[in-house]
Amino acid sequence: MLLRINHPELPLQQYTSLLPHKLMDELTTLAKQFQGMRFVHANSTATGGGVAEILQSLVPFMNSLGLATERIVVSPEDSQFFQVTKRIHNLLQGSSGSLSPEELDVYFRCSEQVAEDIRSRELQADVWFLHDPQLLPLAMQLPKMNGELRLWVCHIDLTAPNAETLEALAPLTSYYDGLAFSLDEFVPEGIVGRYPVYITPPSIDPLTDKNTAMGREEALKIVSAMGVDPERPLVCQVSRFDYWKDPWGVVDSFRQARESAPGIQLALLGLSQAADDPEALGVLHSVKEYAGGDPDIHAYFYPDDLPDSIDRIVNAFQTASSVILQKSTREGFGLTVSEAMWKGQPVIGGNVGGIRTQIEDGVCGFLVNNPQECGERIVQLIQDESLRSNMGKAAQERIREKFLLPRLALDYLKAVRSLLPLNATLEHNGSTNGRADPFDALEQLSLNGRKQ
Ligand code: UDP
Repeated sequence: MLLRINHPELPLQQYTSLLPHKLMDELTTLAKQFQGMRFVHANSTATGGGVAEILQSLVPFMNSLGLATERIVVSPEDSQFFQVTKRIHNLLQGSSGSLSPEELDVYFRCSEQVAEDIRSRELQADVWFLHDPQLLPLAMQLPKMNGELRLWVCHIDLTAPNAETLEALAPLTSYYDGLAFSLDEFVPEGIVGRYPVYITPPSIDPLTDKNTAMGREEALKIVSAMGVDPERPLVCQVSRFDYWKDPWGVVDSFRQARESAPGIQLALLGLSQAADDPEALGVLHSVKEYAGGDPDIHAYFYPDDLPDSIDRIVNAFQTASSVILQKSTREGFGLTVSEAMWKGQPVIGGNVGGIRTQIEDGVCGFLVNNPQECGERIVQLIQDESLRSNMGKAAQERIREKFLLPRLALDYLKAVRSLLPLNATLEHNGSTNGRADPFDALEQLSLNGRKQ
């Protein structure tokens, strides 16, 4: 039920050359104040999706700063749990309906089992970051240790949540010391002014296999091994097969663009990895049916028999494509946007949530409101290479300035600092005081994802 994820060490100095000195100095100075404390990040999947992607880098990065940081993955044994939490995710992003008493029972009962597991194993820390609704009930279900801080980090687009669901779950936030959201506009009205709130937009790790520069030839070799014609322009969306990523709208946009730009092809790259997303297969089938066997539309889902690692395949598609789309209709952040922009690609994104904070419309990509606008922008970018190149440069600069990993680490540490009383004597709940470390007794999984 609880898995401890081990990550290889991170070379801190390699980040320094990519960032303003001021930021790294601020970060290392702040980190010194927390030496001896234990931090834990917990989420519900080891791989797949944005949160796993962030933690895979953030946790080793915090360790490299000298902060003892653990990552644990929580997965209740009852498979209904993820059905319910995916429903909660959809409802909080605005779908209609309401949670049944049975669903709420599954949610709280499974979470209580996780809480019991944490209690009985005596897992303790000074600062807990609990990510997303899957983990939300835990602060209510776990007794708070003296001096311990618990932050709930919400990665969901809460622009227009289902009111009934928000009302049912909002009281759970009152058990936290602080709440973190990706955007100001996601903070629910009832929370403003009542609890400490932090705005912590996600970020990407420039040093992973996914994000280090890949030569165009190498990228073309990989996409062509995946069945794409390397001689023809490629339009691509890298995303889980998910309702809110609007893969049907992507197909519509592509079809419209193809009328003016014949010869283009489309790739929907959504290689299945997220254990907490039970809906992806259904969405894949629906999109394939919608694409109607069109030989120019490629949809990738099954992660078997691939010509390379998933991270390098994502990198290859983001590098080799002529146009990158992220046509979501709701988006908490959308790391894929930053990933592509970091590679010097302008991105055409849905005019929603986190995509709006990343793409400056008309400067480093375009924001679009429907498939027709999206189709027009695809044609414009395909036909104007110098526009593509200029926007791509602006896009990369924007990511360097705002959306690289150390900035997120700094945001989280600033939140922790502001929650601790000035001159606080830290309690060091995470200290083992000579006894065996209970985190060592957890089942362990080692993950890589970094250029060696
Ligand atoms: N991703 C991946 N392989 C795929 C599709 C997506 O590794 O085939 C990654 C993608 O590169 C990104 C993450 O999954 O790092 C998705 O994060 P994002 O914030 O864009 O969306 P989420 O899935 O969290 O809604």
